[in-house]
Amino acid sequence: MALLGLLQSGKHITQCHMCRGSDLFLVLDLGHHPPSDAFLRPDQLLDQEASYPLRLISCKNCGLLQIDYAVHPEILYQRDYPYESSTTKTGRDHYYSMAKDMHDNFPGPKGLLAIDVGSNVGVLLQGFKNLGYKVLGVDPAEAAGQKAIDNGIDTVGDFFNEDSAGKIKEKYGLARFITATNCFGHILELDSTVRGMVNLLAKKGVIAVESPYALELIENLEYDTIYHEHICYLSVKPMKLYLKRFGLELFDVKRSSIHGGSMRYYIGHIGEHPVRRSVNACLVGEEAGLYSEKKLKLFASKVKKQRMALVSLIMDLKKQGKAVVGVAAPAKGNTLLNYCKLDINFLDFLTEKTQIKIGRYSPGMHIPVYSDDHLFKKKPDYALILAWNFADEIMANLAQFKKRGGKFIIPIPTPKII
Ligand SMILES: [Zn+2]
Repeated sequence: MALLGLLQSGKHITQCHMCRGSDLFLVLDLGHHPPSDAFLRPDQLLDQEASYPLRLISCKNCGLLQIDYAVHPEILYQRDYPYESSTTKTGRDHYYSMAKDMHDNFPGPKGLLAIDVGSNVGVLLQGFKNLGYKVLGVDPAEAAGQKAIDNGIDTVGDFFNEDSAGKIKEKYGLARFITATNCFGHILELDSTVRGMVNLLAKKGVIAVESPYALELIENLEYDTIYHEHICYLSVKPMKLYLKRFGLELFDVKRSSIHGGSMRYYIGHIGEHPVRRSVNACLVGEEAGLYSEKKLKLFASKVKKQRMALVSLIMDLKKQGKAVVGVAAPAKGNTLLNYCKLDINFLDFLTEKTQIKIGRYSPGMHIPVYSDDHLFKKKPDYALILAWNFADEIMANLAQFKKRGGKFIIPIPTPKII
């Protein structure tokens, strides 16, 4: 039984996640990591903790950056999956404005259906609902889905795939908008998901996929956005090629600053929307260097240098007798902590707003997680901002810490003290 569990816990990927090509090369090996959202209860600390290879690879054919080990979704997305998209104001504002953008750019009659895949607590759908749309969320994470339902957002507790999409179509009809933010790169059975989208999308309907942009990952050294939930790291070239296979067309792209720099892909049935210049401009312009092996190797060597710089910085502070902690414990924080091997000898504790993580321990490094109050009570000298993409908001929320003489450390792209 135990062996069976082990065999089914994940698999090596030997073909490109999108184009199925097998000419893949290693970009960066981050070592073995536990699932980055698997925060441990105190009673789990002495149990054996599973960890899996975490390696960034690239496809020579389509250029897709991806990882080459897929952990079983049931291990990654447990019932109490702790990510909640509404916990920051920046996030909420962003999703409301995304709904507004789509409403303004693709106007239609009132009461059309907007479906969000991986809807979490329903923030984006709340934006659509405010604009007069019928809304439906689809998300297998029970706790988040229940919260959405409590907030009046109709939610199906399931993975979005061909099968569940068929049932949705029968019950709710075709969708004007199908959105998938920060989940497209997480989906192992992506073909089935896309077929489900094609089947559910009205003739003139629009799919909007938004995901951290691979170019930002490479240019800004955002290696901590690599973790097992993120199977692939999207960019325009592989997306365009991939969607075509399903009768879909990528007709517009738009960059945004959320999550350290994201790209939004607007997609429709082939020929139903004019293809904007933005798509080609991206391919021949900024993305041109993303598919060079040389550039990717340079990225890997910079990541190794960043690790040394961050570890040395914190080690120097510890030698001076300073107390250092981590603030905000997002999934990406665990890639950074585990890759840099920053445990309680470096960071006394982490603080977090998400209730479900408080009282638990970070996966791998086992650093205890407290609420933000603990920061004011213990008055450490330095606070490492692990959710550096929300650094401005975090520093504003914790202004009191700075006023009392505390300093912040931002780790990415180059560690700096503020
Ligand atoms: Zn490929």
